[in-house]
Amino acid sequence: MRILIVEDTQPIATAVRSMLELRKFAVDVAGDGETGLDYLLRGTYSAAIIDVGLPRRDGFDVALQVRAAGVQTPILMLTARDAVEDRVRGLDVGADDYLVKPFAEEELIARLNALLRRAPNPISNILEAGPLRIDLLARSARFDGVDIALGTTEFRLLELLVRNANIAFSRSDLLERIWDYDFDGSPNIVDVYISQLRRKLKQAGAHGIIATVWGVGYKLIA
Ligand code: CA
Repeated sequence: MRILIVEDTQPIATAVRSMLELRKFAVDVAGDGETGLDYLLRGTYSAAIIDVGLPRRDGFDVALQVRAAGVQTPILMLTARDAVEDRVRGLDVGADDYLVKPFAEEELIARLNALLRRAPNPISNILEAGPLRIDLLARSARFDGVDIALGTTEFRLLELLVRNANIAFSRSDLLERIWDYDFDGSPNIVDVYISQLRRKLKQAGAHGIIATVWGVGYKLIA
């Protein structure tokens, strides 16, 4: 299993690396947020340990970007401040757990092992958000057992939102991800598809699960 550490404080990075290597994990270290994000998007890691305070891109933003790209790697966030808002924010942007610095080696290992046990099965073709269930192989969606007939674009839109439940996407994010980068039509197409999707979800009994985030765009409420 390969673990990524994103930490700019060299002594901590080195200490965590040796703790993990001692337990036979393969370890990569990134010293800033931008590099960490790049590693996470390109590599295959069983888990990532990410410090909040990082140069070039903070840990919250790394987690947010990773989740927005649909990468499910479990994330353990390191925070130096025992501030409730930091922990909440970390979990909010897609981290799976957090650890307050300074921490005991045993605690880091215990939390990491818990995350690895909870990690989604990478070969699973089923995505779930509450009663909403998407089968990626069959390209089908059901809500509470009721089939939802979706077109290709609607399906991709729903898949993206379910993979990143509770994360808000702007219209331009959605345009880039679902339509081509060089799409030159009106951004209103996003609203058109969202309202079609909402209508179909509502028919299946899923009312209000795609929320409008004022000033941002849309998100799926898990
Ligand atoms: Ca730091």
